[in-house]
Amino acid sequence: MKVKEFNIASLLRDNIKSMKPYSSARDEFKETTGDMVFIDANENPFENGLNRYPDPQQRELKQRLSEIKNIPVSQILLGNGSDEVLDLIFRAFCEPNQDEIITLPPTYGMYGVLANLNAVKNVEVELEANFQPNVKAIFNAVNSQTKLLFLCSPNNPTANSFEAGLMEQLIMNFPGIVVIDEAYIDFSNEESWLSRLQEFPNLIITQTLSKAYGLAGIRLGICYASEAIIAVLNKIKPPYNINQLTQSQAIARLNRMDKVEQEVAEILNERERLQSELQKVNFVNTIYDSDANFILVKVDDANKRYGQLINFGIVVRNRTTQPLCHNCLRLTIGTKEENDKLIEILNILK
Ligand SMILES: *Cc1c(COP(=O)(O)O)cnc(C)c1O
Repeated sequence: MKVKEFNIASLLRDNIKSMKPYSSARDEFKETTGDMVFIDANENPFENGLNRYPDPQQRELKQRLSEIKNIPVSQILLGNGSDEVLDLIFRAFCEPNQDEIITLPPTYGMYGVLANLNAVKNVEVELEANFQPNVKAIFNAVNSQTKLLFLCSPNNPTANSFEAGLMEQLIMNFPGIVVIDEAYIDFSNEESWLSRLQEFPNLIITQTLSKAYGLAGIRLGICYASEAIIAVLNKIKPPYNINQLTQSQAIARLNRMDKVEQEVAEILNERERLQSELQKVNFVNTIYDSDANFILVKVDDANKRYGQLINFGIVVRNRTTQPLCHNCLRLTIGTKEENDKLIEILNILK
């Protein structure tokens, strides 16, 4: 099979196609080696480690990611969190007050927020009862203005991965760009779609350092796509969107992958333990399978249990108003001690 004819120019907004990017002073020098004098950017010349503008192309950080993920640097774009990456995708492809996207609730709230912000219609196609995409309904929802389809896998808040066969049908036949949000991929048994990126010119994969990598505070989102898509996003991103502190901290963390892997393994152990402990809690009705670092549980009365937990100093996410999530709470896997406390309190609630 082959992806339906893909033509990036037919999907891009006209103003984006014709725009000329801002050229930053530092862009003109690929390597800052030797004893160059930099009096081009109106910086303060006194060295303190942060007096210079950061590398607008984040070469060292991308190089490290490229080695770890086995994806060429030319197919990587970094954002100030995945949120910025997603916003750039909207701005590149979606004409305000005209174009549409498709999202599959219950899912990550930012897709809808960004659609709103960009004046783009968010067409919602609910997941099936088993939390899998309704492929037929998705294709029924497509029209000539449909530009993006968001697949969050593993999905937040349902914690499951979408079936690869369904995702492939969607990628192969969707007439626009398919964005797979892999924020939780490091906790999953499923393989990342990165291994198949080269097959699909209409595919964008986003990942983040906010979850498994333990760096939500530095805001680093990663976008992988074809060179053509990355070139467009590069052209429209703010020149210095990834600050120096973030670049250095990210590199330091990527140089300690052993630690990341050890923490992920510990979280997965705790996830399994929590799942079996939750089965013993009398007001927990369903514990959904998880491919992420959180568990979705259906309880007898989510609002009541949410309030009770707050009174004991435990904050969980109440998802009861979301479609298919009536009376559901989302519990992030904490440390062993935090999970012990959660279990202890769940068992004394009346
Ligand atoms: C947490 C999360 C992210 C991460 O967003 P950042 O802006 O990178 O912190 C992205 N997608 C989903 C579905 C998430 O749950």
